[in-house]
Amino acid sequence: MTWVYDFAEGSKDQKDLLGGKGANLAEMTNLGLPVPPGFTISTETCRAYLSEGGEPEGMAEEVTDHLAALEEAMGKKLGDADDPLLVSVRSGAKFSMPGMMETVLNVGLNDTSVGGLAARSESDRFAQDSYRRLLQMFGGTVLNVDSELFSEALDEAKRAKGTDSDLDLDADDLRGVVESFKAIIKEHTGRDFPQDPREQLDLAVRAVFESWNTDRARLYRRQERIPEDLGTAVNVQAMVFGNFGMDSGSGVAFTRDPASGEQGEYGDYLQNAQGEDVVAGIRNTVSLADMAEIDRTSHDHLMDIMRRLERHYRDMCDIEFTVERGKLWMLQTRVGKRTPEAAFRIAVHMVDEGLIQMDEAVLRVTGDQLALLMFPRFDETADRVLLATGMNASPGAAVGKAVFDSDTAVEWAERGEDVILVRKETNPDDLRGMVAARGILTSRGGKTSHAAVVARGMGRTCVCGAESLDVDTKAKEFRVRNGETVREGDVISIDGTTGEVFAGAVPVADSVVVRHFEGEKLDDDLAHAVSRIMAHADGARRLRVRTNADTPDDAARARRFGAQGIGLCRTEHMFLGERRELVEKLIVAQDEEGVEAALAELLPLQRQDFTEILEAMDGLPVTIRLLDPPLHEFLPDLTELSVEVALAEERGEVDERATTLLTHVRRLHEQNPMLGLRGVRLGIQIPGLFRMQARAIAEAAADRQQVHGAPRPEIMVPLVASVRELAIVRAEIDRVIAEVQEARGMKLDIAIGTMIELPRAAFLADRIAKAADFFSFGTNDLTQMAWGFSRDDVESAFFSRYFEHGIFDVSPFESLDQLGVGGMVEMGTTKGREVKPDLKVGVCGEHGGDPLSVHFFDTVGLDYVSCSPFRVPVARLEAGRSVLERR
Ligand code: PEP
Ligand code: MG
Repeated sequence: MTWVYDFAEGSKDQKDLLGGKGANLAEMTNLGLPVPPGFTISTETCRAYLSEGGEPEGMAEEVTDHLAALEEAMGKKLGDADDPLLVSVRSGAKFSMPGMMETVLNVGLNDTSVGGLAARSESDRFAQDSYRRLLQMFGGTVLNVDSELFSEALDEAKRAKGTDSDLDLDADDLRGVVESFKAIIKEHTGRDFPQDPREQLDLAVRAVFESWNTDRARLYRRQERIPEDLGTAVNVQAMVFGNFGMDSGSGVAFTRDPASGEQGEYGDYLQNAQGEDVVAGIRNTVSLADMAEIDRTSHDHLMDIMRRLERHYRDMCDIEFTVERGKLWMLQTRVGKRTPEAAFRIAVHMVDEGLIQMDEAVLRVTGDQLALLMFPRFDETADRVLLATGMNASPGAAVGKAVFDSDTAVEWAERGEDVILVRKETNPDDLRGMVAARGILTSRGGKTSHAAVVARGMGRTCVCGAESLDVDTKAKEFRVRNGETVREGDVISIDGTTGEVFAGAVPVADSVVVRHFEGEKLDDDLAHAVSRIMAHADGARRLRVRTNADTPDDAARARRFGAQGIGLCRTEHMFLGERRELVEKLIVAQDEEGVEAALAELLPLQRQDFTEILEAMDGLPVTIRLLDPPLHEFLPDLTELSVEVALAEERGEVDERATTLLTHVRRLHEQNPMLGLRGVRLGIQIPGLFRMQARAIAEAAADRQQVHGAPRPEIMVPLVASVRELAIVRAEIDRVIAEVQEARGMKLDIAIGTMIELPRAAFLADRIAKAADFFSFGTNDLTQMAWGFSRDDVESAFFSRYFEHGIFDVSPFESLDQLGVGGMVEMGTTKGREVKPDLKVGVCGEHGGDPLSVHFFDTVGLDYVSCSPFRVPVARLEAGRSVLERR
């Protein structure tokens, strides 16, 4: 077993073993780029450490060997009194978890070696500054001392000096800070800061391992769906110093703009600073263009390396670098996170630049990103009061009440309020609040600050570095330069695409991508990029994409969005509103004649409904589902009606209608309506109802045919469990269709199929297929019935506990439970096709528009998915990606 690897031993393809940072450091080392030497303790070691509760056997010896090699390479010894080698100890999991785990810099400094560092660097100030940073990071992350204590002591030193910049503290001031930090450590841990360099290193490595399991790291993983059992690698690397003076500095950069996808390098540079200062936003950074003015040589070298990295990785890279006394060092690179807009634009630009092929471009974007691009934007024509402009860190339009801490954000969001989390800057402890908020607003930090990186990662709208805002989190308010104050609870609107912050709730308008799908001709780079990616995905995909729509407007919109028919036209809303009265008549009818009369009134209305929808989808299949929900949903509420009748009686009045209705409401009342008289059961109980609907569909088709339309209706029976149920209903429908054909003298082609949404139906799909022309999986009910979860109640009731325990990491109502419910879908499909090889099979539950579920449905060979109109483009894209991924 090998636990530790030299940078020169790895490559970018070893992220499982070396973590993302380690693998890419290895790659850069092997590319001959200026990377400070070092070694990586593997993720395997972390897993072993966490399961054994200590360092695995042999690890310490390997660290010793690699450290010796590093000392040899650098010509210095760790923590040497005269010329100390210092190292950084950084976490690095397979998937980037920005700021979630620990980093300790300057390991190797102690009361003696700080003198050696001062002598060698000829800067006492630099040596003291480095030592206080080690104490601060080590104290906070390794020894678990509250980091606030260190910040407060540092602030105190600045106050004493009459400054608010750490740069104004001289060597003696910093010596004082070092002493107070040591005292803090002693006071809060009961021991002195460890002076032995190797002990420092070992404890720092251990702290990194353990930081895998902090609450914030767990929460982040759940949010980002990163598996719990990966562990993190630890990178031990020779320190280079950006805090040597003004000829040194640290920066982060992207090879393209991660917010817009615009071509050209983008980054932030901070003179005389270590890397953590840049992301923490303690001072304001300068752009790369300004860096060129400060240090042309390092800047040009950096540009050259960035271009090289982009060509090598064939993707946008993000980079961390340090300049030490005019020499550039690369500390990290990886394929950079980007906004959805940037993802689409970069993918297509890279095709045009010959870096990648279209297939790959499609694989580099996701349906989730496309969905985000379809969110509304603020309406630019509306009246708006601009409060400030910051950086457009993560796109979207968010409106909510301003809150100033994570607890409030979570609390208010839980009671259903939209909130915007406002902070000076965020740190990893704000994650809970960021998850709960609609948007994040900070007054400091650039596009690479923690707030920006994390918000982009989770698709939250974010404006950062709105410097004209004076945020006071203690007073729970921020002041705007013009004097206005926004307090906790005041509504604000933030535009993550432009960086603007507005007072009050700004109305929203359609996004450019939606306008593109609507068919508007736009001269817009993003719209072009989306259009090309969609065309390629459509060319690749096998699955057809239909929509769930039950109005002509929705049908027409879905068609513009690329729907290839309707997979589910629910008919329940057609019985609501004014028509409720007719349903009431049907239910209270005393005899056959009364029933027929009520149905006769409904027939023309239904015919009209279907004619309009068939017209909107002319030429494409339209699956109309016969009435599904329990009848009581169309009747007044039992309690209310009882009270009404009782009150009338008390007044000595008799309300004939209410009293009769009450009898029927009582008769139809069910303890478990979702398991009661609904779906096909209704059709068997009140056969006239389904007959009427079938007639309306057949007549609507005949009407459309008469005017030379191309109607393609399909009739779907819900909630079937037994082939007998379907056969009985089907016989009735067949008879009605025959009658209409006869009466109208035309041939109608209407398929009759069933939903498969009960476990029994999935198990007996081979029998049911005998009476069905098609299947459509109702995965909403199938999930409900498979888990025994009430789809209306459980998500808000106890799912958060289920997430905490990792029973599932996403609601099975949102993304298909592939093992359980998916297993039934697969079995049902196979069994159905055993009997009818050409059986058309689709899905019309909510999962039809969920990216992961779409891949599953494609893999098990369904013919189509059906989803709400807005998810049609998402499903098209994912269906294409699914095929390309398999290739
Ligand atoms: C389903 O159960 O998946 C379905 C599409 O039907 P409904 O949501 O109307 O019950
Ligand atoms: Mg259903």
